[in-house]
Amino acid sequence: MTTNCLFCKIVAGDITSDTTYEDDDVIVFNDIKPMAKVHFLIVPKLHLESLKSCDKAHQALLGKMLLLAPKLADEQGLKGFKTLINTGREGGQEVFHLHVHVFGGGLPTV
Ligand code: 5GP
Ligand code: ZN
Repeated sequence: MTTNCLFCKIVAGDITSDTTYEDDDVIVFNDIKPMAKVHFLIVPKLHLESLKSCDKAHQALLGKMLLLAPKLADEQGLKGFKTLINTGREGGQEVFHLHVHVFGGGLPTV
């Protein structure tokens, strides 16, 4: 756990979240400020600041995160969805712990 990282605190259970899925590697919870009817975040339990912090060692983890998107979207009854990964402040990232946004049911213009 990285001190002062919001998503590490959610992973540790120190901050509550509306968690919809969890396994050894990943936690999924609904965004606190949803930009669509369905808006959840797929978050690795490992603290990785952004996609820029990833290398080949994280390939399987990244693949797992992406493959969870259609599975969890389907469970929410979505026929289609949008995914987004903001990287770096200039890329719109606000929480510096890697996460994949999944939007559905009325898509935002991002
Ligand atoms: P970013 O801009 O870094 O890609 O997205 C961060 C997302 O985290 C935002 O959509 C924001 O609403 C969400 N968020 C920030 N704080 C919290 C929180 O405490 N709980 C949850 N569930 N989402 C959060
Ligand atoms: Zn973190």
